[in-house]
Amino acid sequence: MIGTGTTMGGLSQQNAEAARASLPVAAGGVVSGGVVSGGVVSGGVVSGGADSGGADSGGLVRRLVRVALPVPLGQSFTYAVPDALAHVRPGARVAVEFGRRRCLGVAVELTHELPAGVAPERVKPLLGVIDREPTLSAELLTFLTELARYYIAPMGEVLRLALPTLERTLAEQAQQSLGKKVHGVGQLVQVACALSASERPPGPPPAGRAAEVLALLDAEGPLELADIDLRVQSGRQAVKRLSALGFLTVEKQPRRRDPYFQSAVLRDQPKILNPGQARASSAITEALDTRKAASFLLDGVTASGKTEVYLTAAAHCRTQGRSVIVLVPEIALTPQLVGRFRARLGDEIAVLHSALSEQARLDMWRALKQGKLSVAIGARSALFAPVPDLGLLCVDEEHDPSFKQEEGVRYSARDMALLRAHRSGAVCVLGSATPSLSSELSVRTGKMRRLKLTERAHGTAVLPKVEVVDLRRYGPGPSGDALLSLPMHRALEQNLAEKGQSILFLNRRGFAPSLLCADCGHIATCPHCSVALTVHKRRGGHLSCHYCDHQQAISTHCVACNSARLLEEGAGTERIEELVLASFPTARVARLDRDVAGGLKSEQVLTRMRKGEVDILVGTQMVTKGHDLPEVTLVGVLNADSALSLPDFRAAERTFHLLVQVAGRAGRADRPGRVLIQTRCPEHPAIISAVAHDVDGFLEHEMRQREELGYPPYSRAALVRFDAVDEAEAVREARRLTAVATRAAPEVDALGPAPAPLARLRNRYRYQLFLRSAKREPLRRALLAVARSAPKGKVRVSIDVDPVSML
Ligand code: ADP
Ligand code: ZN
Ligand code: ZN
Repeated sequence: MIGTGTTMGGLSQQNAEAARASLPVAAGGVVSGGVVSGGVVSGGVVSGGADSGGADSGGLVRRLVRVALPVPLGQSFTYAVPDALAHVRPGARVAVEFGRRRCLGVAVELTHELPAGVAPERVKPLLGVIDREPTLSAELLTFLTELARYYIAPMGEVLRLALPTLERTLAEQAQQSLGKKVHGVGQLVQVACALSASERPPGPPPAGRAAEVLALLDAEGPLELADIDLRVQSGRQAVKRLSALGFLTVEKQPRRRDPYFQSAVLRDQPKILNPGQARASSAITEALDTRKAASFLLDGVTASGKTEVYLTAAAHCRTQGRSVIVLVPEIALTPQLVGRFRARLGDEIAVLHSALSEQARLDMWRALKQGKLSVAIGARSALFAPVPDLGLLCVDEEHDPSFKQEEGVRYSARDMALLRAHRSGAVCVLGSATPSLSSELSVRTGKMRRLKLTERAHGTAVLPKVEVVDLRRYGPGPSGDALLSLPMHRALEQNLAEKGQSILFLNRRGFAPSLLCADCGHIATCPHCSVALTVHKRRGGHLSCHYCDHQQAISTHCVACNSARLLEEGAGTERIEELVLASFPTARVARLDRDVAGGLKSEQVLTRMRKGEVDILVGTQMVTKGHDLPEVTLVGVLNADSALSLPDFRAAERTFHLLVQVAGRAGRADRPGRVLIQTRCPEHPAIISAVAHDVDGFLEHEMRQREELGYPPYSRAALVRFDAVDEAEAVREARRLTAVATRAAPEVDALGPAPAPLARLRNRYRYQLFLRSAKREPLRRALLAVARSAPKGKVRVSIDVDPVSML
C-alpha cells in the first residue's frame, strides 16, 4: 500500500465534505494543521439517527473531548463526555462509536467548543475510558501532534506509530488495562537474587569467589546464573554455596524472549578516550548537565570511535536519571551495537526490532514507560519510545535514507529526532562518517554544533587505498563477466593468496537483472508493474519482481516473438557468487542479501565472516552497514554507476555515501586495506571524492550544486503522488490538484504532474507532482490546499513532505 496514511481516495462524499469543512483558515490566511489545534471537527457526528444516549441535549455548555482515531481523516473528532467518564485525560485511550463501528482512539484535548455548525444533539457520547492514567505522556502527545502537523498526516495514523496496540480490540485492551499480567510461554532461566543484610545469617561473610559473586549481586541486582558464570570463575558453584548458606535465593524466571538477549555478555569498562573523543564527549555531557536542548553532529570517519562517544554520553545521561534513545538504520544488521550497549550499560535495555512478538513489544513498551528500562535501541520506530524523561537521542548513520518511512505516515526519524529532542529539552547527537547535506547546512547556519573525530580509534589503522577501475578500458576478466574485470580478478587472487578476506559489493540481488530476447529485444516485465523481472536461480529458479514480489516460472520462449533464444542479461549477487566460486574453486564464498538474510540470519553469515570461515563475501548494501569485520583487506565495488543513474537529485550524494561506507569496511584493525571501484564515469565528482576520501570536498561541491539549482537543503520540497487503476483518472486528478496547489501558492515551483519513474506498480498507474519552494510556508499552503480538496473517484493521493525516494 502506498501512502495509506495520507490517502484520501477512499472517503465517501459526505466524509470528504466533512474533511474539507474541518480545516479552518486561521488569521492571516494560513491554514492551521487541522489536526488537533484545528478546533473544528465533525467526524464523530454521523448524519441522521441522532444518538444522544447519556449526553444531555439542549443549549447547555457541555464537556467535550477531541479524539484522534486511526482512520484516514486528517483531524480529530468531537465527542461528549458523560458525567461518569469525567475523569478522561488527554493521552488516555477511549472507546467511541465512529460511523457504525466501535473504535479505540486517544483523547487529545478537552474542550467546551462545539464544531461550527454542528447541533449539540448530534454529538455522540464517549463510550468508555480505557486508561485512568494517560497512555501517552504530555511530552509524547505534543510531539506527535507536531509531527502530524508537519507531515500533514492524520493524527490517528500518527498515534498508531506510537501505540502499537491501538488496533487491538476493545475487549483485549480493557482486560490488559485491568492489569492482568500475561505471561508468555518463554523458557525459564535461573536468576540469583541477593538477600538483604538483615536477612543474611550472622557471622563473617564468605570469602573468595563467593564474596565476589555477592559483591556483584549487591552492585547490580539479580543476575542470571549463566551471566554470573561468565563473569566469575566457577560462578555457579559459588552461587550454590551462597544459597546453601542463606545469602541469596535462586529463582526461576521467564527468560527475556528476545534473540538480542539470548547470550550473556561480559561487562566492559569505558575506554580511555582519545583527545577528539574526549572533546566530543565533554561537549555532550556539558549540554546534558544544562538540561537544555542541544544538537550535535558527530562527524567522524568509520571506526573513529563514534559509538564509544554515544556510550559515554548514554552512561552520563543515565546517572542523571534520564532516558536514552538510540536510532540505527537497521537493527538486524547491527547486533554488535546492542552487544556493546549491554556490555557497558547492562541489560536494562529495550531493543525494538521487527521480530518482536506483539506481547514482547507491549512488555517492552510498558517497561520503558514505567522507567524500568531507560535505554531504547532500534530502527526508526524507536523514536516513539515512551520514555518518561528523555535526556539523550542518538541517531547513528544519520545520513541513511532508511530513516525515512516510505509508507503510511512518511516521516523522517532523523528529522523528527531533532524535533523531539528540541521540544523535550534533550540532547540530540547525529553521527555519521558522511554527514547529510541537511546536517551540513544546520552546522553552517549555527543550528547544530559539529564535533569532529579526525582519526580512526585504533591509532595504527590507516584509511584504505582506493583505486578506480575504468570499465571502459577493461573488458571482462578470466570469468568472462564484465563486472569481474581483470584488475578485480587479480586483486581477489592476490588477497586470497595473502589470506585476507574480501567483500564484493553489488547493489542488485538475484542472478540477472533481466531476461532479454536475443531476436526481438523484448524484456520480460512484471505483469503488475513497469519493471523488468529479475532472474533468480536458487530453489529451481524463477522470475521475480523486486517491487511487488510477483513470481513466475522462468519463461522458455519470448512472449513477443516466441523465440527460444533468451539471454540472462547483466549480473546480480547470485551470478557473481557463482562466477567467483568457479574462478576461485578453493575459496570459501558466502553471500549476503535480502534473499539470504532475514533478521538474525544475516548475523550468522557475518559471524562466519568474523571467525575467518569466509574468504569472499558477495553482497548488496547490507554488507556496507556498520559491521566490525577487522580482517577484511579488500573491498570491490563492482558497479559504482548503478546509483548514479537514478532520476533523483540526490543520486550523487547517495553514490558518495555508499562508496565511502563500503570502502570503510576495508582495513579496520592493523592491516591496511585496498578498495577497487569499478565505474564507467571515473570523472564524476562523487567518485573522485570517494576515491580521495574527501568528504569535505564532496560536501562543498554538492552544497554549491544544490544551492545553484535550488534543491534541498536550500529549498523545501514535497512530492504529491497520485495513483489509480485507470490511468486517465489518475492524470485527470493529478492535473486538477496541481491547479489547486498552484492557485493556493503561485510562488511555489510546481514540476509536473508527470508519470512517476516507476510508472506502474501493483496494477496502478502512478503520477507525481514535485513541489519546491524557498520557504516552507507557501509550500505548506499548497499542500494543505491539496489535502483539503479531496480527490474524486478512485484516485489515491498521498503527500510526502521532504521526500527521500523519488520513485
Ligand atoms: P565508529 O562508531 O565511529 O565506527 P567505534 O566506536 O565502533 O567507531 O570504534 C571502532 C573500534 O575502536 C571499536 O572496536 C572500538 O571498541 C574501538 N575504540 C573506540 N574508541 C576507542 C578508544 N578510545 N580506545 C581504544 N579503542 C577504541
Ligand atoms: Zn522476442
Ligand atoms: Zn511487480
